[in-house]
Amino acid sequence: MVNYKDLGLVNTREMFAKAVDGGYAIPAFNFNNMEQLQAIIKACAETKSPVILQVSSGARKYANQTLLRYMAEGAVEYAKELGWEHPQICLHLDHGDTFELCKSCVDFGFSSVMIDGSSLPYEENIALTKKVVDYAHQYDVTVEAELGVLAGVEDDVVAEESHYTKPEEVIDFATRTGCDSLAISIGTSHGAYKFKPEQCTRDPKTGKLVPPPLAFDVLEEVEKRLPGFPIVLHGSSSVPQEYVDIINSHGGNLPDAVGIPEDQLRKAAKSAVCKINIDSDSRLAFTAAVRKVLAEKPGEFDPRKYCGPARDEMTKLYKHKIIEVLGSDGKAE
Ligand SMILES: [Zn+2]
Repeated sequence: MVNYKDLGLVNTREMFAKAVDGGYAIPAFNFNNMEQLQAIIKACAETKSPVILQVSSGARKYANQTLLRYMAEGAVEYAKELGWEHPQICLHLDHGDTFELCKSCVDFGFSSVMIDGSSLPYEENIALTKKVVDYAHQYDVTVEAELGVLAGVEDDVVAEESHYTKPEEVIDFATRTGCDSLAISIGTSHGAYKFKPEQCTRDPKTGKLVPPPLAFDVLEEVEKRLPGFPIVLHGSSSVPQEYVDIINSHGGNLPDAVGIPEDQLRKAAKSAVCKINIDSDSRLAFTAAVRKVLAEKPGEFDPRKYCGPARDEMTKLYKHKIIEVLGSDGKAE
């Protein structure tokens, strides 16, 4: 048994309470490798932003859960080395699908877990979530649950269609499970192809896809029923067109990739939404930088020469999200 507190990590309770009060959101960035983790920590240390490091099932398969946990432990020390006196770093399991997996993360030093029972019938979702909450809370580990279904593809999480969260269920669900935060479905979506072209309109000037707006009415109904309760948005990458263009003009092929416009996320961050998950955008930043270097310097074969620029591009992206979209800068001195 490893307690996250001994690793210098924090759970989400206090950071969410402050974010709800302060009208901003905590960034939840997924990480799979060293460069990505370095970029996240550097961006957060420079902006003094609390942060949630997320480990998905794909990350565990790719990088190994044990290694990722030690990397998060190292991240706390790295943050201090960068001059961040009191780093607020949470290590969170993204989309846990079984009690056993959540338990193994709690036992191994994670400070927060998500149990995603959203694909289960309502009562089974409650039973599974409550089981995880009862276990995790013994160790002061916070638990995120999910109601409603997001469309899109993220590692092993695949859904054809989205189903908005039903606001009439949230009080019952939150009360009976005891979860600390709730991921809801209001039209965000996993991956870099969040909407099919037929769901969008086209900007007549640029020819680019314009996605449908988020269902803020559903969010407002949820907030009305659970005032001050931390709400989470998954699948909230914006798919910056400049990265898509760099990728496509340097040998890539990402036709009609589309994300959530940042003004919508800015609006959400000011509400009870206090955790916004961003993964695809950093994948795009990384890939754009790597493609550019390799296209411009075909003789390059030192991975540091293309992973380095990729890391710099991700740092820039994370800082942009923190300062311009989420408003979490300066919230963790
Ligand atoms: Zn997700």
